[in-house]
Amino acid sequence: MSEEKFDAIVVGGGLAGLTAAYCLAQAEMEVLVIERGTFCGSKNVTGGRIYTHSLEKVMPGFAEEAPLERKVTKERVALMTEKGVVNIEYASGKPDTPETASYTVLRSKFDKWFAEKCEEVGVMMVPGIRVDSLIKDGDKIVGIDAGGEEMYADVVILADGVNSLLAQSIGLKPELKPEQVAVGCKEVIQLGEDVINQRFGLEGNDGLSMLVAGDPTVGNIGGGFLYTNKDSVSIGIVATCSDIGRVDVSIPDMLERFKNHPSIEPLIKGGLPLEYSAHLVPEGGFDMIPKLYDNGVLVTGDAAAFVINLGYTVRGMDFAVESGRLAAEAVIRAKAADDFSAASLAYYQKLVENSFIYTDMKQYRNFPKLLERHEIFNDVPEIADVLFDRLFRVDGKKPVSLPMFAIDEIAKRTSASKLLELVMVALDAL
Ligand SMILES: Cc1cc2nc3c(=O)[nH]c(=O)nc-3n(C[C@H](O)[C@H](O)[C@H](O)COP(=O)(O)OP(=O)(O)OC[C@H]3O[C@@H](n4cnc5c(N)ncnc54)[C@H](O)[C@@H]3O)c2cc1C
Repeated sequence: MSEEKFDAIVVGGGLAGLTAAYCLAQAEMEVLVIERGTFCGSKNVTGGRIYTHSLEKVMPGFAEEAPLERKVTKERVALMTEKGVVNIEYASGKPDTPETASYTVLRSKFDKWFAEKCEEVGVMMVPGIRVDSLIKDGDKIVGIDAGGEEMYADVVILADGVNSLLAQSIGLKPELKPEQVAVGCKEVIQLGEDVINQRFGLEGNDGLSMLVAGDPTVGNIGGGFLYTNKDSVSIGIVATCSDIGRVDVSIPDMLERFKNHPSIEPLIKGGLPLEYSAHLVPEGGFDMIPKLYDNGVLVTGDAAAFVINLGYTVRGMDFAVESGRLAAEAVIRAKAADDFSAASLAYYQKLVENSFIYTDMKQYRNFPKLLERHEIFNDVPEIADVLFDRLFRVDGKKPVSLPMFAIDEIAKRTSASKLLELVMVALDAL
């Protein structure tokens, strides 16, 4: 048994855990991060695009030195059918500040860099070890057990990701339900910088974020994504677990289907696959957030279900960073009072409730209900496809009134009452 006792042990070296550790070490606290991957980032998966505002508070100017890929300057949202696609593309053109920018990112590089920054400020990093259980003294968490080795701390910060078995083991969160999580499946494909600029209409360090509904998940709840990195693209799908088996296409096959779509295949043609990964994503939104503290323990990031998927954007990384920072703030306060009880650590819950994490997640509380509507992934892309086909196809026959054609197409697929219901759910979600 180790004699050493830390001020804090952080389980998980993802963005939540590393941020908490970085902030605590800066406050001169003794912090240990235990990460089961061989290095931080080796097991982490994101789409992904990071919004910088929360990390900018922790490490002002970080984007100048961090291994970020490209600055997102173009947004593309697409509705896809088996052969067709309706793209909406947007480029703001307005200048960004360090707080409003967002970048594409590869976690294997980014988290590794972040872990090095943590070490520079004095965090002790222990990769390659899994924490198996939490140690209790009465009703207080006092340490962790990793492969039979026990380590102790005033507080344990759980930053162990979406499937936090540790938070479950102490009753802070229930087992995940299939409708609350999606599986993300992703490939990184190397193409070269010039090829990316040419194929996506980009220049220099500009990047594109693309989110797609419809065919990639064969009408299941979820969607496809594509992000341009410096010389590669990240392409993947996210598919809700409760829909698995609804169609006869497996999740890895959905990714192949997406890659082979006539509008996507030319974009990635000739690329070299560099990385393949799969990971769960919390999708339950605000109502999935568990209690965030107990005696000697706090829950952060994905372990606390801090993710929103709005179809046109996915956010989890900025929440993970903010929750790590707020957890550190609560621990610093607890240390000053030498009180790591649940009553003292409840301050973390208050901080989260007063932060953008709660405001934003509450705002979109009903969004998961909207995403449960399969019409969005089936009928909407199909209707968009036939309408655009009608709009642009000239065949010498008598033109049809577009509004009448649209009404006919909608009526073929749904009733007026169902359409109204969908509109109401959408208004409620937004
Ligand atoms: C396919 C996909 C696409 C996404 N796209 C985006 C996006 O574009 N933008 C965005 O902001 N968010 C996106 N997200 C969400 C985002 O990636 C997460 O919200 C974010 O990574 C959460 O960070 P975290 O630190 O809480 O958890 P994680 O990054 O999952 O880190 C948890 C860490 O804990 C470690 N760990 C787990 N258990 C143990 C244990 N018992 N002992 C030791 N270590 C342990 C893991 O190895 C891991 O390193 C996406 C997620 C997925 C899967």
